[in-house]
Amino acid sequence: MKHFRKELWFKTSQRRDFINITNQVQACVNESGIHEGILLCNAMHITSSVFINDDESGLLNDFEIWLEKLAPEKPYSQYQHNGAEDNADAHLKRTIMGREVVVAITHGKLDFGPWEQIFYGEFDGKRNKRVLVKIIGE
Ligand code: ZN
Repeated sequence: MKHFRKELWFKTSQRRDFINITNQVQACVNESGIHEGILLCNAMHITSSVFINDDESGLLNDFEIWLEKLAPEKPYSQYQHNGAEDNADAHLKRTIMGREVVVAITHGKLDFGPWEQIFYGEFDGKRNKRVLVKIIGE
């Protein structure tokens, strides 16, 4: 069995952003040389997410609005976690949007359903943060 590990780094210019990382993840599959296997992709920070959904700008705006209703960034004083930090909302948003995705690799490609794309969801950005890609297979 082969195994492969790589970290992808992101630094968003805004506090919150969604980045389609599908091409970068597929590049990891190509680099690994694995044709049949399983890929894990997870955010390595507790204020960012990796999730699968549609790359449609209206939907991405809907996620932003929905998450702000559920866990508004401000006022910062509404959260017990804030004080030394101001990112309680980011921890909550990350939990809803998820830590990781698992994708099958078939014939050397990410084996997606229709319209599936992998996103990095940033909720406390403007700094360097990592995503782990781990692949096992043959
Ligand atoms: Zn925090």
